[in-house]
Amino acid sequence: MGMHLLVTGIGDAFSNQFHGSSGLVKVEKGWIAIDCPGMVLAMWRKAAERARIQLPPDDVGDLVITHLHGDHCGGLETIGFLHRYMIPGDTSKPRLHAIEEVLDRLWERLAPAMDGHGAGLDDYFTVCPLQMGTPVEIAGCQVECRRTRHSVPTAGLLLSDEVGCLGWSADTEFDPDHVKWLERADCIVHECGEGGNHTTYEQLRSLPESIQSRLRLVHMPDSFQPPDNVLEPLREGEWIEVRARAGTAPVPDGSLD
Ligand SMILES: [Zn+2]
Repeated sequence: MGMHLLVTGIGDAFSNQFHGSSGLVKVEKGWIAIDCPGMVLAMWRKAAERARIQLPPDDVGDLVITHLHGDHCGGLETIGFLHRYMIPGDTSKPRLHAIEEVLDRLWERLAPAMDGHGAGLDDYFTVCPLQMGTPVEIAGCQVECRRTRHSVPTAGLLLSDEVGCLGWSADTEFDPDHVKWLERADCIVHECGEGGNHTTYEQLRSLPESIQSRLRLVHMPDSFQPPDNVLEPLREGEWIEVRARAGTAPVPDGSLD
């Protein structure tokens, strides 16, 4: 089975209907969470039920955090405590991947709730820095990152295995260079907001058709309706196979389902 994306959240920071924009990526060696909003366990359960797949939360061994806005990282306290206190016999710590600027300030955010008994970030997570331009292997797939244009340090992501490549814009102003970097992905999950620190639908519609055809949207305001129904918002619980489109890359023998 090649890479699959379970869409867990599509909302923006103010949504009263959806979870914060996030996903769970199933790759060869496990599950990778992209961002971790609050109510994370309910969010994962609901998405898995909608997709009719089994997903015990402790199966998620890797978390990639794009930035420190609460709608992207507010669930880390839950995940840290889950592994430390709630899973009998669990001695593993989830691996937490983020760029240095995010890691530098992460504990400032978590410590007031998590530093009891002298605990530190390393007591909850195995901390794994991501560096621009240096791919790392996470659960058997290659992950690259790139800084976006946002109000706080934020990284977009490319995750690739031998079958497909998933692009994740993360929060960003419209940035043609960022889109160009994401271009080699077979499926590009792009944020879509109301301008300012975010990208508008109209800006995404200005991109070449070859890119638009691979875009799916997250991070919309609750009231958002695509004005022309060309670019399609993701749906929570959607389960997407990420693979090279026919004719764009070699297809390994017998590995597709
Ligand atoms: Zn943000």
